[in-house]
Amino acid sequence: MLHFRPILLAACFLSLWTPGAQARDTKVALTFDDLPALSIVSDQSYIDTSNIRLLEGLKRHHFPATGFVNEGKLDEGERAAQIANLKRWLDAGFELGNHTFSHESINTLGAADYIADIVHGEPVTRALMDRHHRRLRWFRHPYLETGYPAAVKASLNAWLSGHGYRIAPVTIDAEDWEFAEPYDDAVARTDSAAQRKIKSAYLAYTEKRIGWSLASARILFGRDMAHVMLLHGTRLNADSIDDLAAMFKRLHLHPVHLASAMRDRAYRTPDAYDGKDGIGWLERWSLSLGKDLPDAGNEDPPADIQAAYNRVDGDRGR
Ligand SMILES: [Zn+2]
Repeated sequence: MLHFRPILLAACFLSLWTPGAQARDTKVALTFDDLPALSIVSDQSYIDTSNIRLLEGLKRHHFPATGFVNEGKLDEGERAAQIANLKRWLDAGFELGNHTFSHESINTLGAADYIADIVHGEPVTRALMDRHHRRLRWFRHPYLETGYPAAVKASLNAWLSGHGYRIAPVTIDAEDWEFAEPYDDAVARTDSAAQRKIKSAYLAYTEKRIGWSLASARILFGRDMAHVMLLHGTRLNADSIDDLAAMFKRLHLHPVHLASAMRDRAYRTPDAYDGKDGIGWLERWSLSLGKDLPDAGNEDPPADIQAAYNRVDGDRGR
């Protein structure tokens, strides 16, 4: 074994000394919320196509991913077809997590009803995962609202860890839901010019937000950390996956499994935030560590996208 060592050391030095480049790719776990789909087009075939295309894209690029399910959505479409979409994720080798049954906030439900909503969101996903020899272990809070006041958050966290769940944090959030619904609307109107315009605004905004997250992590931890990116199960992401893959390559981001990203010791940083707002984990850690995050890149989606979203939905963000 010893004779391999000089080669490894040489490789190490080479990568460390490449001028102007990161020593190695930054890991990012891709997570997709609101499965089977976040869509204003309720046609089952539209939702099926979005899932099939997104999964094909992820496989084409060899990207691992975790999908977070709202079982309440199963009866919003054709139940058997909606369940078949969840099965597609598992058949393709991806993991599923719990995103509650109804996508209500803990701020609305309180701890006891929220926990009941998590349990209500388990049976179909758990049964599918059992059949794929996988264990339901990830939980993602709707709206990233984690419980207010502190006692509510503490009782949820105690319940989650007592029931084998790990919280899936978020360190990259490009508000993709806000672009996705105007995009659905453009697809429904067969307005390909609008589709292209929304997609390009989405990609530009995403790149800006990733830049902000990379810069923020360096401020908090003095290094690049493994990130967790929040996305949604949308037609927009299904149609953008090749562009996102090109962006990741350009930014030296390497998609990995959620469990792998979370082995980064940054995730051991306490999250002491017990306010009402749904904020990301970089913001939470900035409070815990007493370090300010940069203003550059920390901005809302473009005004025309927000206006288009309000026109087509008016619902609150996912
Ligand atoms: Zn959601």
